[in-house]
Amino acid sequence: MLAHKAAREGKVAAEVIAGEPAAFDNVTVPAVVFTDPEIALCGLSEVQARAAGYTVKVGKFPFRALGRALTLNATEGFVKVIADAEREVVLGVRMVGPNVSDLISEAVLAIEMGAQLEDLAASIHPHPTLPEALAEAAEVALDRAIHIYHPGLKPR
Ligand SMILES: Cc1cc2nc3c(=O)[nH]c(=O)nc-3n(C[C@H](O)[C@H](O)[C@H](O)COP(=O)(O)OP(=O)(O)OC[C@H]3O[C@@H](n4cnc5c(N)ncnc54)[C@H](O)[C@@H]3O)c2cc1C
Repeated sequence: MLAHKAAREGKVAAEVIAGEPAAFDNVTVPAVVFTDPEIALCGLSEVQARAAGYTVKVGKFPFRALGRALTLNATEGFVKVIADAEREVVLGVRMVGPNVSDLISEAVLAIEMGAQLEDLAASIHPHPTLPEALAEAAEVALDRAIHIYHPGLKPR
């Protein structure tokens, strides 16, 4: 029931008809709710990941702690990253807040590429921008957040 999924399926169908070795093998289909604030998600939720047998690491970063959100006066919401605790591979992302309909695409790419939390946390995001929230959430999941207090933070 999503236009972007239908578009991908249409390309695969055309490629198969043309004899190309194509398949609909996407790992995740993002979904967006265009409310105010917006809601965007891809991959597994924390509950779905646990139900699938994963032990999870979760990182949640609030937009009220993000510089760009403060300058836009749009501090409602958060970015939440769900990862497999063992391999730290990103399993899912949940977002509520400003322009998350745009921000979710980086999370989709991360899941399609099998990215780990470190890939999100260590990739340099321009400052001040909203996509920094995804890297910040990954840092929370890795217990090394520096812009918010995180109860799971362990002394090094
Ligand atoms: C009002 C509305 C708003 C939406 N907004 C969004 C949105 O914001 N974002 C989003 O991601 N998705 C949205 N959707 C959903 C999205 O449009 C659909 O999921 C998507 O278009 C499905 O594409 P499809 O190619 O599978 O089917 P369709 O687009 O329904 O295409 C099916 C085609 O098959 C044709 N057809 C049917 N039966 C036959 C037949 N027997 N012989 C020949 N041709 C036939 C139809 O005429 C049609 O052209 C919205 C849908 C609606 C109705």
